[in-house]
Amino acid sequence: MNEIENQPNLHTELEQKVVSIDAAGVHTQDKDGKMHVYEADTIIVAVGLAPLKDEVEAFRELAPQVSIVGDCNKAAQMNEAILAGYFAGYNLQRL
Ligand SMILES: Cc1cc2nc3c(=O)[nH]c(=O)nc-3n(C[C@H](O)[C@H](O)[C@H](O)COP(=O)(O)OP(=O)(O)OC[C@H]3O[C@@H](n4cnc5c(N)ncnc54)[C@H](O)[C@@H]3O)c2cc1C
Repeated sequence: MNEIENQPNLHTELEQKVVSIDAAGVHTQDKDGKMHVYEADTIIVAVGLAPLKDEVEAFRELAPQVSIVGDCNKAAQMNEAILAGYFAGYNLQRL
């Protein structure tokens, strides 16, 4: 973080949540509820990924065997999703 803070052309804002993005820029809300707008020509969204666990778990009731694989289990890499899919398919023959 120190390296970023030392860059003269970079400005860091913490503890703010992006609420919307429109032609005016990026609209955020800070921890006190105050709204901010950051004008921008280009916006890079790099917020990470998290699976919707509750929605995924709702599928368990639909069939005797439900395998949850790939990013809906945990955001990761392609090889992990492919491997988990392979074993899910392999285990189907055991029913
Ligand atoms: C920007 C980015 C870059 C990445 N770069 C790499 C990389 O360089 N190397 C690497 O190994 N991994 C990379 N990953 C991770 C990799 O893409 C994932 O781990 C992998 O794609 C997970 O596979 P998946 O089948 O679980 O999900 P996905 O590949 O996301 O497939 C899910 C599919 O389900 C479809 N879908 C969603 N909802 C519904 C619905 N309701 N009905 C029907 N279909 C639906 C989606 O359209 C999608 O096609 C990257 C991910 C991102 C976001």
